[in-house]
Amino acid sequence: MEIKQSPPNPSVTVVEVGPRDGLQNESEWVGTADKLRFIELLAAAGFRRIEAAAFVHPRWMPQMRDAGVLWPRLPARLGLAFSALVPNEKGMRDAVAAGVRHVAVVTAASETFNRRNLNAGTRETLDRIRAILAMARPEGIPVRGYISTSFTCPYEGTIPPDRVAELAENLLAQGCFEVAISDTLGVATAEDVSRVLEAVIPRAGVERLALHLHDTYGRALACVGRGLECGVRTFDASAGGLGGCPFAPGAPGNLATGRLLRFLEEQGMPTGISGDAVSAAADFIRKVLRH
Ligand code: MG
Repeated sequence: MEIKQSPPNPSVTVVEVGPRDGLQNESEWVGTADKLRFIELLAAAGFRRIEAAAFVHPRWMPQMRDAGVLWPRLPARLGLAFSALVPNEKGMRDAVAAGVRHVAVVTAASETFNRRNLNAGTRETLDRIRAILAMARPEGIPVRGYISTSFTCPYEGTIPPDRVAELAENLLAQGCFEVAISDTLGVATAEDVSRVLEAVIPRAGVERLALHLHDTYGRALACVGRGLECGVRTFDASAGGLGGCPFAPGAPGNLATGRLLRFLEEQGMPTGISGDAVSAAADFIRKVLRH
């Protein structure tokens, strides 16, 4: 009898970032109960990872100012991890106090973007990340590192891929479990993805890379396709395509989760996440935001 070998596991991880990266950009206040409902609807869709809040000074992200009261009320679901963005030690302390067990940190590949967005040069953002990692380690808290403006910066233009590679290597060496190569402006083409990944993968490996794409020019799925070809298996998306970047003029939404799920399905890479449930979550939050 012929024994059929099962194909290699094509599994792809989709990280839902709508409740944090989507909502942070909305100037109109969304109440804690509505945020929770949005997150509950997303949790029901079957994600393994949802970025749910940020512990950031309210001056920078007023929409996230209820993170401390939101967090303890998040729905507990087996196999689902909620993460929070933390910019510094103070944010990390607040996050841990609220019960956060997964965090994300951010730097940018552009010195100017770091100064304008995070009020610190690249070196200083790496110092902050080192301090956060030192707090996370004894708590056993995994830390994801975002590299904003990995392709193009609104101030500096095209970013040299070697700079992204160096940062990715640095973040992983410091202890981040994953690095999200992020196209803050949504300007990347599939060729740009190849160019950046060709520089990053030899130094950082591919297993711990994620792609965080925006759909500004409708090219995000082409970029996902190229990422898949290069071996990337983790992609960020935001329900309803919510969220640009408040500090990146002219940047509209993140790649919409529904679009990504349909694309992955077409590629024969099911995620186990319910597109219908994601639509329900996106419809709900759109009504709240009156989009
Ligand atoms: Mg984003």
